[in-house]
Amino acid sequence: MKALSFRLIVLALCLPALSVGAQPERPIPYPLDPIRGFDRAVERGTRTTTGHPGAEYWTNTATYRIQAELDPATATLTGVQTVQYFNNSPSPIDRMVIHLRQNLHRPEAIRNRFVPITGGMTVEGLAAGGRSLEEVASFGRPGYILSGTLMYLTLPAPIEPGGEATLEMAWHMDIPPEGAPRMGHDGEVFFLGYWYPQIAVYDDLVGWKAEQYQGDGEFYMGYADYEVDITVPEGWLVAATGTLQNADQVLPTEVRGRLERAATTDEMVRVVRSNERRAGRSTAFGDNGRLTWRFAAENVRDFAFGTSDQYVWDATRARTGENGHTMIHALYRPGASSWQRSAEFTRFSIEHMSEMVMPYPYPHMTSVEGAIGGGMEYPMITIIGGRRNDLSLFNVTYHEVAHMWFPMIVGTDEKQYMWMDEGMVSFNTNLGTEAFFDIDPWREDELFYHGIAGAGIEVPSMRHSDEYPIDTMARLIASYTKPALMLRALQGMVGEDLFLEAYREFARRWAFRHPTPLDFFNTFEDVVGENLWWFWRSAFYETWTMEHVVADVRSDEEAVTVTIADEGDFPMPAPVRVTYSDGRTVDDVVPVDVWLSGRREGTLRFPAGDVVRVEIDPDGFLPYLYRIDNVWER
Ligand SMILES: [Zn+2]
Repeated sequence: MKALSFRLIVLALCLPALSVGAQPERPIPYPLDPIRGFDRAVERGTRTTTGHPGAEYWTNTATYRIQAELDPATATLTGVQTVQYFNNSPSPIDRMVIHLRQNLHRPEAIRNRFVPITGGMTVEGLAAGGRSLEEVASFGRPGYILSGTLMYLTLPAPIEPGGEATLEMAWHMDIPPEGAPRMGHDGEVFFLGYWYPQIAVYDDLVGWKAEQYQGDGEFYMGYADYEVDITVPEGWLVAATGTLQNADQVLPTEVRGRLERAATTDEMVRVVRSNERRAGRSTAFGDNGRLTWRFAAENVRDFAFGTSDQYVWDATRARTGENGHTMIHALYRPGASSWQRSAEFTRFSIEHMSEMVMPYPYPHMTSVEGAIGGGMEYPMITIIGGRRNDLSLFNVTYHEVAHMWFPMIVGTDEKQYMWMDEGMVSFNTNLGTEAFFDIDPWREDELFYHGIAGAGIEVPSMRHSDEYPIDTMARLIASYTKPALMLRALQGMVGEDLFLEAYREFARRWAFRHPTPLDFFNTFEDVVGENLWWFWRSAFYETWTMEHVVADVRSDEEAVTVTIADEGDFPMPAPVRVTYSDGRTVDDVVPVDVWLSGRREGTLRFPAGDVVRVEIDPDGFLPYLYRIDNVWER
């Protein structure tokens, strides 16, 4: 669809002044709220006010070496891990925070959704720098304190700037049955997400940003390299974040040959078929009936894996950028409807997103079926459950694949700013659906949003993801649907090409970093060359709706004068198209300054002539609550 660019110059950089004594007829947006630590980060040179990371920007990194063994019969996972943590910050670190997210399932956990109850994560031992540490009652001496899903660790010696620490841990956990958010097992498929003790993010804004995992809100994670050994029974296929390092030990020659074909041709290859699902055919035979699969991943914010002895396996490859390729895998039970097309959908999503945002940088993307109701993203892998038709599986697949860019590559804080990844991903998914099925997904989103928009039960998008009204549409609309519609409105306002330029520039600047909403807003303004504070405020901090109507159309010998009224509270430029009886059209825009000056009506003058139709937002970029008043016809 061709876009009408209704860009405009905003003259005022802050609240426009009303003439003395005049009362505004409408609310005027406040300036943006500050973000904790942001101004100080600018002073210290780690961030800027132009949306670039600062010259002094840093992230801490880590290397995880994990050996984990799954026992499907008892649904338990046992692990040992060694983590090297690198302090790239300018400050010494004497205390660390570690996520034990499986403790969400303990009976006493604080939660904001229903989950199955398990024993959670049991820490069997912990050592820092080779020194064994015990659970302690207070922070005064080296040791750890367990609190809900968090472990606070006081180190024997601080990690100096530029220094590192080595942590060794032994642990075991119960794998929750179906009903766990985002992972678990259904008896046949085991999917392990947020399973190992993971070091929290220490960032340039606030230092440790470690919040309890309560179930609803998702994650804020740092970048690390992983080497993970996963031991499962022979005959069980394993798909994971990272690249398989020992295919010759766990896969028979014939399976490896099929994978090789998938990697070097564009064929869709059936790697393991339904009549081959047994040790000796789908996998090698193991020692004592068990096989250890070894994976490695670089620069990812998490590691997850799925395994089953019921899976079949399809593979192909996808193009990523000019000459690049990545592997595509789909593992599913043969009865799962539409999954025969999973690898095709996954490939399309990777290629489409690579073109739209930036080339996919990782060696594979894998979709696995089962165990959960919806879909959940992890680096290089997604788990998708539920009964689905083609459109539904495509939608979820594209959505989860788009998460590889937001928040996997662009490492936003999903807990604090859920809209940043879910909104962007929902926006991308609609563009993907439009391209694949040639249908318009925007009207459906508008209808969903209108279900509560302006009804007083909406909440702003800029809300912590653990603080939404539980089990309501408000959370979905504020985090997914509305921000997607707002990005669409922004795209209409600045023009599709310039929008994409800014969107890509944001991803490029903040890949493998931790941007806040201000970094997004500032990058956009930097690229577009306009101050859009009123848009960010109205779109993400308020629940105002857009409502332009054609109030009046008058013709005389000199001009056609069109009056547009704004009956909503969201100040937004109103693009107007006038059509004359000879079919000629003229476009113009009521600039946002009219609304920001406190007025409810603005007028546009068009060339005189025989006007037969006046339409607001003719290209359909704006999510008006009522479209019926958008058109005047003679
Ligand atoms: Zn999502």
